[in-house]
Amino acid sequence: MKELEFKRHRRLRSTDNMRALVRETHLLKDDLIFPIFVLEENDVKNEVPSMPGVYQVSLNYLTEEMNELVNLGIKSVIVFGVPQEKDEAGSEAYNEEGIVQRAIRQIKEEVPSLTVIADTCLCQYTDHGHCGVVRNGDIANDESLELITKTAITQAQAGADIIAPSNMMDGFVAAIRQGLDEAGYSQIPVMSYAVKYASAFYGPFRDAAHSTPQFGDRKAYQMDPANRLEAIREAESDVEEGADFLIVKPSLAYLDIMREVKDRFRLPLVAYNVSGEYAMIKAAAQNGWVDEKAIVLEKLTAMKRAGADLIITYFAKDAAKWLSES
Ligand SMILES: [Zn+2]
Repeated sequence: MKELEFKRHRRLRSTDNMRALVRETHLLKDDLIFPIFVLEENDVKNEVPSMPGVYQVSLNYLTEEMNELVNLGIKSVIVFGVPQEKDEAGSEAYNEEGIVQRAIRQIKEEVPSLTVIADTCLCQYTDHGHCGVVRNGDIANDESLELITKTAITQAQAGADIIAPSNMMDGFVAAIRQGLDEAGYSQIPVMSYAVKYASAFYGPFRDAAHSTPQFGDRKAYQMDPANRLEAIREAESDVEEGADFLIVKPSLAYLDIMREVKDRFRLPLVAYNVSGEYAMIKAAAQNGWVDEKAIVLEKLTAMKRAGADLIITYFAKDAAKWLSES
């Protein structure tokens, strides 16, 4: 009888050592960015109900949280503020003594080895919960740019190492780049939320940041999940305007977009593994339905395989621990 002819792919899967030799994608602690919610209220450490294991912390708990990151080998943090006062113009966002500015100053003084990324938006600070200035029920693009630029400058003054604008107004990278340069911060990079979809996966974050829009939704500035070419246009204009990093948000349902952005643009790509993605896995793990460690490491590796260089994730601490074990 004539022998069958076929390829033997299993040769390269025979042992742990063999699999390690041919592994194409590696998840590293250096890839992880931990998001932190800092409360202006004093002496509070609150677990976010829809995000078990994620806390909003007052300034007096911030340093111990940051030291924990350093001890786990995590090098970067992205800071979100939860102010006590909100108003129409989101003025706490660009107050030099605002909660994010104070948090950044404290981290840079007390845990200087951490790279501090400032999330730059207005929605946590506006009483209407939108990411820009509201005029006649609409979000006024150009007026919002002035406030977002002011916010970025106060964050740089406070010591932020990277500015990460997330409000999806047109021209925000150009406006912030110019504002930072004129204020003497030409060395501070901009990590743009270049491709940010109007996603249902953000639900738990809005609990944590108290940033649910009080009317309407964000579909007039965040992107339609059905669109791919629009993502390329968004990323392209941010590159032209001077972005140093590109974020794709959310991550799991958008791995195709990450791959495409990575292939087209020669900039570091950041995946934002969002709150809803975290909450779904946590809930399933708490019910004993999935193996949390295996599923988290698999999905973070998948983001890297899709082209992400860095991952903003609420799983950063867990992932760092698991990476140390293996
Ligand atoms: Zn926003």
